[in-house]
Amino acid sequence: MNTSIKKLVSQFLCTIFALGLVPALYINSEFDRVEAQHTLNIKQSSQNQIEYSFHELAVIVEQISNSVPSIADSQTLLRAINEPSTIHKETLQDLWVMLARGQKYYSQLRYLDIEGNEVFRVNYKDGKAIVVPDNELQNKSSRDYYKALQELKIGEVSSRGIDLEVENGEIVRPLIPALRIMTPVAENNRIIGYFIANLNMLEIYKRLHYQIGASSAVPIILNKTGHIIMGPDPTESFGHVIESRSEQTYAKSYPELWTAIQDKTSSSYFDGKNWYFHSDISPKIKQFEGPIYMVLHIENQQFNSQYQRENHAIFVQIVTLTILISMISAGFVLWNQNHKKNSIESQLAKAAMNGMSALVITDRNNRIIKVNQEFTRVSGYDLEDVKGRQPSMFASGRYNQEFYIKMWSIIKKQGMWEGEVVNRRKDGSLITEILRIQTIKDSKDVIQFYVASFVDISKHKELENKLRNLSEKDALAGCWNRRKFDLELRDECSRVNRYPTREQSCLAILDIDHFKRINDRFGHDYGDRVIQTVAQVLQRECRETDFVARIGGEEFGVVLPHTTTEEAEYVLNRLRIAVSLELDNIVTVSAGITNLTSDPALNYKCADLALYEAKAAGRDSVCLFLDSEMSEIA
Ligand code: GH3
Ligand code: MG
Ligand code: MG
Repeated sequence: MNTSIKKLVSQFLCTIFALGLVPALYINSEFDRVEAQHTLNIKQSSQNQIEYSFHELAVIVEQISNSVPSIADSQTLLRAINEPSTIHKETLQDLWVMLARGQKYYSQLRYLDIEGNEVFRVNYKDGKAIVVPDNELQNKSSRDYYKALQELKIGEVSSRGIDLEVENGEIVRPLIPALRIMTPVAENNRIIGYFIANLNMLEIYKRLHYQIGASSAVPIILNKTGHIIMGPDPTESFGHVIESRSEQTYAKSYPELWTAIQDKTSSSYFDGKNWYFHSDISPKIKQFEGPIYMVLHIENQQFNSQYQRENHAIFVQIVTLTILISMISAGFVLWNQNHKKNSIESQLAKAAMNGMSALVITDRNNRIIKVNQEFTRVSGYDLEDVKGRQPSMFASGRYNQEFYIKMWSIIKKQGMWEGEVVNRRKDGSLITEILRIQTIKDSKDVIQFYVASFVDISKHKELENKLRNLSEKDALAGCWNRRKFDLELRDECSRVNRYPTREQSCLAILDIDHFKRINDRFGHDYGDRVIQTVAQVLQRECRETDFVARIGGEEFGVVLPHTTTEEAEYVLNRLRIAVSLELDNIVTVSAGITNLTSDPALNYKCADLALYEAKAAGRDSVCLFLDSEMSEIA
């Protein structure tokens, strides 16, 4: 991994950490909250279950207990006891059958005489009320509860706690836990027998169900030894009576829970897996001989679906937040990166704007939008002067349309043009520039801006021109020198070559006659002045398009473009006369003319021959020698 990627990754991680800290704390607290809520839910629901079951049990037992004395105290029972005719007995039995069917909680309704003999009895089992025939009635004087009966006073109601149904000394199968509610039957303030109602506790137990969440939980009812008296599984119950189950106690199976149960009257206990809620219910239900415990067994899993749902919701939040924070972090890192780059680029742009080059920036329509200080300094224009205008406003008029068309086609094609141009300053003066025009394109390759940068080379140009002049001008005569003459002759010859059908051009060579004598007679300085005067006359008398150069000591060359040999002869004679007149006929010149061809050396030779002829002809004259004549000589 290179360092820039490392840097990006560490920036990314730091941003995630910074942004994720608060949400992480929040998520953590959410987990704690859900955990606490989960526990509270279990406790609350279980508390409700215990309360409900206890209340249901208490109400049923109380109601039935309260109804027992009125059954015992009925006239129908007394009539059947005192006058046990078939009709009286049947009336009583019918009443008890109705009561049993109506109530559904009675398993037996009995009347025992003072000796403990069953006199009337109705059994109720599996929804059926059966009148026990006389021959199946038993004597109960041997049973524990008979002793208790004898101690009862008129109007007293007693119960012996929950016990199993026993028939003929045998425990009734399947096992039925029963609560005997007993009261004396009295006549004329004298106890004549006892009424006993057996409550089927299994039927009552069924009412104790309570819906918790998706599943239901049933409380288990334990006696003081920790044996189950009532529970959802009858095969685990009644260990205090059934020998084979005597070991099955909560005291043995759940020793810690059992300790907790005995320590507190009502509480909750968590063994790491399951919750147990317990309550000693005997103080509130006097019919149960205490202590009797109600224990609610809740598997933690019973509430897991809601717990998991809430945890799932938190996980969804975590995932969403993680994605969101990652995206924000990535966005921030990229933005930061871009910002840095932009700021560097803007600094670079600033530096470039304040550089040594003058800058003109135009929009896609080539309208000026920005110029720099150097531009203002060089051109004299402020931004206000040029904003919204086109750079053509700076044109000097030196270039034709063709020049600009070519320039723009290069810019469009290559994205850049570079060259030397002459433009005009605000004050109208000319400025020579090395100009570069570049395009700036967008991502779709469409030109958005043009950047023109230039350096003012006017001063260099001036100097260069001066130097060139010096190198091309004759110091004594002030006209062009031999070097320039050779270039000019060559250029003109190549023009002749390029445009052969063009009008004729001519070359003339002039030589001062007997100059040696002038030097000798008047001195060298005077000779020099003569040379100067001849040059001046030649330049003055020639057309602007003609080219005059000193090509030797007292020799001059004249290039005459667009001139026929006849015209040239005429011009040269005029020059000859002008020189004579200027120098009072002291100095005369001779000249040789030739027509220009593509060969400069040949032309020179022809003109020289023509000059030779003029000298030979007596001087102060003009002679013509055509290139065709040369080929004839050859
Ligand atoms: P011709 O009519 O045949 O031309 O006779 P000429 O005396 O002019 O002969 P030529 O052209 O051969 O002589 C040129 C002379 O010009 C030779 C030289 O002394 C003189 N001369 C050359 N250059 C200069 C110069 O710069 N100044 C002066 N004063 N004299 C020069
Ligand atoms: Mg000469
Ligand atoms: Mg001469």
